[in-house]
Amino acid sequence: MIESQPCCRHCKKQCVKNGRSKSGAQRYYCKPCKKYFQLNYVYNACRYNTGRWIVSLTIESCGIRSIARLLKIAVATVVRRIKKISKTIQRPFFILKGKEYELDEMRTYIGNKGRLYWIVYALCKDTKKVIDFKIGRRTAKTLQRVTDTLLLSEAKKIYTDGYALYQNLIPKEIHCRSSYRTNHIERKNLTIRTHLKRLSRKTICFSKSREMLEACLKIYFWKRDFANNIS
Ligand SMILES: [Zn+2]
Repeated sequence: MIESQPCCRHCKKQCVKNGRSKSGAQRYYCKPCKKYFQLNYVYNACRYNTGRWIVSLTIESCGIRSIARLLKIAVATVVRRIKKISKTIQRPFFILKGKEYELDEMRTYIGNKGRLYWIVYALCKDTKKVIDFKIGRRTAKTLQRVTDTLLLSEAKKIYTDGYALYQNLIPKEIHCRSSYRTNHIERKNLTIRTHLKRLSRKTICFSKSREMLEACLKIYFWKRDFANNIS
């Protein structure tokens, strides 16, 4: 009985039968949500939780190809879904003013192991959350895009490592150059490298495109706040 009258996954109300798909599977229709669905799909990527699985596996150090193998879907589908999910995630726009931040750069490759790129990101010292990140060469232009976000949020103090370019970008009064005050972000670097396959060191894994690296980092840093948008 339950199988013949399944409940909608969104509103939990009972659905009605609504014809059959091309492959012959029973289709159902939810009147309040105006949505159609099937209990079984020929194409595995159509299953309800595919998006959630892709997010979970991405941040559990699974590469794109291993996700495709585990979920029995195509590599191109995984790539397309990751890009789609990342587009629903925004940088946290509610930034508290007058906070202290740690700023650091992390080395990675894009395209091949000869093309060096840096992930510049800022961590709030209180909440330990990533406020903003940018990917690019290790130049003032890339660093400035992150420091500008911090200066706009009227940062009380910004802690960086000894990298010289920061001197010109951050006012002296709020800038603190110290190796032991960036402990949290240095530790975070190791966590990210463990959780994201494409950033693991001493492996053959790296990002093939900047867009995918950005998408994966967005999911990793901010996916929890937007988990409801994933389907
Ligand atoms: Zn419904």
